[in-house]
Amino acid sequence: MLAAGPVLATEVEDEERAVERQQETDHPAPTKPAHAVQSEDGDVASEPQPQQTALALLNRTVEPGSFATLHWTPDQSFASIATPVPVLVAHGTKPGPLLCLTAAIHGDELNGIEMVRRLMYELEPDQLAGTVIGVPIVNLDGFRNGSRYLSDRRDLNRYFPGTRKGSAAARVAHSLYSNIVSHCDYLVDLHTGSQKRVNLPQLRADLDNPDVVAFAKHFGGMTVLHSPGVAGMLRDAAVKDGIISVTMEAGGPNRLEPQAVNYGLQAMETLLENLKMRKASRFWSAPQPVFFESEWIRAAQGGILLSEVKLNDKVKKGEILGTVTDPISNTGSAIIAPYDGRVLGMAVNQVVHAGFAAFRIGEVKSTEEVEAQAEKASKEKTQGHPGPEEDSGDSNEAEPHSAGHPRDSSNVAVVDAPEDPDDTTE
Ligand SMILES: [Zn+2]
Repeated sequence: MLAAGPVLATEVEDEERAVERQQETDHPAPTKPAHAVQSEDGDVASEPQPQQTALALLNRTVEPGSFATLHWTPDQSFASIATPVPVLVAHGTKPGPLLCLTAAIHGDELNGIEMVRRLMYELEPDQLAGTVIGVPIVNLDGFRNGSRYLSDRRDLNRYFPGTRKGSAAARVAHSLYSNIVSHCDYLVDLHTGSQKRVNLPQLRADLDNPDVVAFAKHFGGMTVLHSPGVAGMLRDAAVKDGIISVTMEAGGPNRLEPQAVNYGLQAMETLLENLKMRKASRFWSAPQPVFFESEWIRAAQGGILLSEVKLNDKVKKGEILGTVTDPISNTGSAIIAPYDGRVLGMAVNQVVHAGFAAFRIGEVKSTEEVEAQAEKASKEKTQGHPGPEEDSGDSNEAEPHSAGHPRDSSNVAVVDAPEDPDDTTE
């Protein structure tokens, strides 16, 4: 018997079952129209209901009310050894939005992979309005190597929407974008901190865009950071195309953090409820998001960084966030909070160079203030953004080192938005 809906995955699901599921879904979707009989419990609609249609994606057709595992093969010249990337699809019986979730664009960012798995396998397509497409591991090569980057050492999240004839990274970006992302109404791109930094679970969103502000409010009580994004990021490319997108950051790379995963999952469950895609299985105690403007506070000198604060701590202007000490000369300096705020991201204790972005301190903004600003920015915005680059080639290299320059002679240096692409962790 064919499974029309997903079987709830449990922690103990073994490989055999996974393979079985794969085989089921590798065959065309069941011909039996899912839920042809819908009136059993008196849910008889006398008025004509809008009909959900089959979804055509990646050369397959997914019937309403079914779950499918599809495969995306990033275009590349070495096709014979290319590994297809699994794409999970839950296609609801009722019409609704198409929500896309992408994780591990940076191959070492694991928390998002687990969030996508849990969310996708708790969805019941026969209870779903709209469609959820989840790509748990976009950068499969990086994932296998425990690396943030593609195998050509480029950062994929600087090449969207990509080009058909550009660098290898631009081609992979183009393939993902045109085959999957272009179908989405909404996109949540899942990340963690990078380069030995950790982030409080948070959304990064362009709060100058009223649609994005409204979307960010659907995640319940999650912290939202204003971040316009930088060119080449998936979220930036998608928003410019009218696909309403945010990045979700949770935790750090190369680790699985149950708390961060649970928090992110809960936020996405809340999102599904607020988009009216399904009923939520649990509820927030604090349903309102908290908006922040934030800046990175940098080390003024190189040395051993030792923090004196924790993620989510409230800090006061003038408070010591951490110290940087030269282990040879025994000279050191403190990194000081330049204003009152909250620790939203921070480096783990490590050896740093001068200019290293060490603490991300956020300042709360009221929802009214955020909405007013978005309205204003949206009015001011001249339409017509530059089109896609002809060929990004090698000109768009973003090397993963940080080389910021202190802006003044005090102990701290503050970055102005838009942020340095080397230091944004998404
Ligand atoms: Zn990332």
